[in-house]
Amino acid sequence: MRIGTFGDGRLAVVLADGSVDVTELLDGQPLYQVIGQGEPPALRIGPADLADRPRLCTAELDWQPPLPHPGKIIGAPANYYDHIDEMPDSATIVDWGLFLKAPTSVIGHGGTVRLPWSDKRTDHEGELAVVIGRSARKVSPRDALRHVFGYTCLLDVTVRSTEDRSLRKSFDTFTPVGPWITTADEIPDPGRLELSCHVNGELRQHTSTSKMIYSVPHLIAYASAAMTLHPGDIIATGTPAGVGPLTHGDRVTVTIDRIGTLEVLVSGEDAIPYQDRPGHKAER
Ligand code: MN
Repeated sequence: MRIGTFGDGRLAVVLADGSVDVTELLDGQPLYQVIGQGEPPALRIGPADLADRPRLCTAELDWQPPLPHPGKIIGAPANYYDHIDEMPDSATIVDWGLFLKAPTSVIGHGGTVRLPWSDKRTDHEGELAVVIGRSARKVSPRDALRHVFGYTCLLDVTVRSTEDRSLRKSFDTFTPVGPWITTADEIPDPGRLELSCHVNGELRQHTSTSKMIYSVPHLIAYASAAMTLHPGDIIATGTPAGVGPLTHGDRVTVTIDRIGTLEVLVSGEDAIPYQDRPGHKAER
């Protein structure tokens, strides 16, 4: 099943012939609560519950981030070999481990990424995102997928500057997620998905998730060895080759097999020169 959040926090399941509002069926709970309830994590509604319900036009729904306030967003730096070839450093996730992005950086399908600096490169990084469905602490790679609720598309927007990743990737609007979550039962192997990222209709990134250095089970094991994962936490699994700068007016899409297409716009309206960044002192 595909489930997402639309309008004023309502939930919808996306079917082939339209979307069904399931807010009441799920007792008005927000998605982060719904996803922590199954064992293994699963939706407790099925196609039979939805057969007679009215269809809404999926393309016209006002999609919001499926999880507007994730507890944490964990990122995987340099987790595809071909992306490392285009980076100034040859280090990989093996050297760097993981990083955190601010949960407040999340926006949804149809949202707008706001560039902070008029003179610093800000890149798109199209990625597969894992949504945790039940608490995980020190799980093995072998048990890891049992803790997954589902998968979605994510853009890990990143300023290319000298600052720490946790700042460069955490500006408000820098983590588009969605448009919805495809539940794990539909994706038994997250290591066999085709992923692509387009800017203004031009293909910029294209890979299979089989090219990850640390696969999804290994990322979950690695993260959960350090920090307990909770339902609704997100792991951004890293980006393949082809990252590139975003400019005002761009339209960016991330498409992943069995999930769908996440689309956002880019605005440079609020961008200011990097040297004018608030709080910055030129002299130490
Ligand atoms: Mn990334």
